Amino acid sequence: MNDNRFVSCAAPGIAHLQPYVPGKPVSELERELGIIDSVKLASNENPLGPSRRVREVLAGKRDKLARYPDGGAWALREVLAQRHQVSPYSITIGNGSNDVLDMIARVFLWPGRESLFSEHAFAVYPLSSMAVGAELCTAPALDFGHDLEAMAERITPATGVVWIANPNNPTGTWLDSGMLRAFLEQVPSEVIVVVDEAYFEYVAPIEPDYPDTSQWLEDFPNLVVTRTFSKAYGLAALRIGYGLSHPDVAELLNRVRQPFNTSSLAQAAAIAALDDPAYVQLGVDLNRQGMAQLEVGFRTLGLRWIPSVGNFVTVLLEWPASEVDFALLRLGVITRPVENYGLKGGLRISVGLPEENARCLEALEQVL
Ligand SMILES: *Cc1c(COP(=O)(O)O)cnc(C)c1O
Repeated sequence: MNDNRFVSCAAPGIAHLQPYVPGKPVSELERELGIIDSVKLASNENPLGPSRRVREVLAGKRDKLARYPDGGAWALREVLAQRHQVSPYSITIGNGSNDVLDMIARVFLWPGRESLFSEHAFAVYPLSSMAVGAELCTAPALDFGHDLEAMAERITPATGVVWIANPNNPTGTWLDSGMLRAFLEQVPSEVIVVVDEAYFEYVAPIEPDYPDTSQWLEDFPNLVVTRTFSKAYGLAALRIGYGLSHPDVAELLNRVRQPFNTSSLAQAAAIAALDDPAYVQLGVDLNRQGMAQLEVGFRTLGLRWIPSVGNFVTVLLEWPASEVDFALLRLGVITRPVENYGLKGGLRISVGLPEENARCLEALEQVL
């Protein structure tokens, strides 16, 4: 990295930026190792993929690719406004919710400003913050989850954004309504608090105390809630997500948004996906069963794991996770080492179809 001859010309923050490491695509593994029939449990995608209704809508769009999309994504924003009972002006549509996170960093962080997040938190928060030259501030975790007291103590007059993943990836830990509300009440109103709810759909049906913070916008004008179509809705390839916030915050985010940041296919697919709650429920039920299947398997293998409410679970191995990952790859099972999140021996496994989970457990048994 440091032998890059242009690194001294790059903006502050870029010199030390380590790009996000994505899960290996199936095609790449198969090409590299000559494996066929591999299973990918590395990126927390929905193993069912999108619903039939979504596929039909997308097929219908095939002949309409010459025109630019509606950059404002009005139709989708209206559906979302109805759903969350907020104004369409509270909604910012992103090319995946990561795009919204990036807009937040660009608007509310700059050199000298502090970006606050938890140990083991989602890697995009430090990445987007570094890219704009902000100072990173990490609060220690509590039982692998966010310690909101420790986070509150670290807020200073320089703090621009506090990032909270609920639940967090890769730990699968979550914060209940009471804890999160008490925290928001302590945060000065000029500090933006992001609550990243990428896995909302998986948690809401199983944990009665899990908050729907989209309903708190009126109480906390500094709150930005992010959601995505990449996980429970099965649309990761299309890249679409959104932020919910005070209209004045949304207006600032939309100033830095690329004019055509989401495609017309993604917008139409998102609308169709929202219209099919039964399909989402199917995936959520499948996830719950798959999680139980993995946990039984881990117990049999004598493995330790962090209990997760998401569609993924991190096991804490006695061996270097990258070595186990590599051995699993040779057996055609793609998982995700997460030691770079400060989780020693951490290997994150996404919940797949029953047969995929079974293959993963068999491979783990063979490797260990
Ligand atoms: C997967 C994930 C996202 C969603 O990313 P998209 O850009 O919407 O695909 C956001 N936050 C967390 C914590 C995630 O795990």
